[in-house]
Amino acid sequence: MSPEPLLQVDGLVKRFGGFIALNGVTFHLAPGEVLGLVGPNGSGKTTCINVICGLYAPDGGSVLYQGKAIGGQASHRLAKSGINRTFQSPRPFLSLTVRENVELAAHYGDPNPGFDVDALLADLQLDRYAARPAAELNSAQQKALDLARAMATEPRLLLVDELAAGLNPAELNQMAVRLRSLAEQGMALLVVEHLMGFIDKVTDRVVVMAAGKEFFEGTLADATRDPEVIRVFLGGGHHG
Ligand code: ADP
Ligand code: MG
Repeated sequence: MSPEPLLQVDGLVKRFGGFIALNGVTFHLAPGEVLGLVGPNGSGKTTCINVICGLYAPDGGSVLYQGKAIGGQASHRLAKSGINRTFQSPRPFLSLTVRENVELAAHYGDPNPGFDVDALLADLQLDRYAARPAAELNSAQQKALDLARAMATEPRLLLVDELAAGLNPAELNQMAVRLRSLAEQGMALLVVEHLMGFIDKVTDRVVVMAAGKEFFEGTLADATRDPEVIRVFLGGGHHG
């Protein structure tokens, strides 16, 4: 039997003025599971993460986390409840050191005095830069720092927005292994990514979206055989 879902998104709607960015998105995610969210640019993937993590309130539908409605709760409260995310374009505090960026996040979450910032930095190969300003990191390292910042709040649900973009093949592989190991430790992950090789390595299931609507849910292998998925991806001009 699959475990109880940690996250249940049902009929989620988000509008920006007259524009409907999410038009009824439904999926669930259990602890230890990695769900991929894929679709052409502008299909609403980041908006979906933004609504789940509390950056935007939904205009319709529901978001249940541990069985409780959280739609509209502020991000900082949700971070304390165990939801955190990475950003498509990370914006670390550039003048703070790498270590200070992570320490700040660790205090911002549900403070755990035993949390080992140094072990986290070492795991993400940022230990060498711990005392350097974040401004000195290259873009792959900034992505790693953004993941460290999110992990410092010890999330149970991690929303990952295009973390793999810009990584070289070796870095991609390391990141895939890292995300899988977080899932093996019981974390639930929602992973937005264009690179299908990465999605294949990391996810158990995928949801495919287009124009704010989810139209496929299943394994990536089945998705790649689905005529509608093929049509939308080719039509969207996005290959990964
Ligand atoms: P994806 O991450 O799949 O590329 P997004 O969720 O970023 O797509 O965007 C979906 C659509 O919603 C796009 O058309 C985008 O321009 C629009 N959108 C996203 N955020 C906002 C916002 N804050 N204000 C207005 N429109 C937005
Ligand atoms: Mg996006």
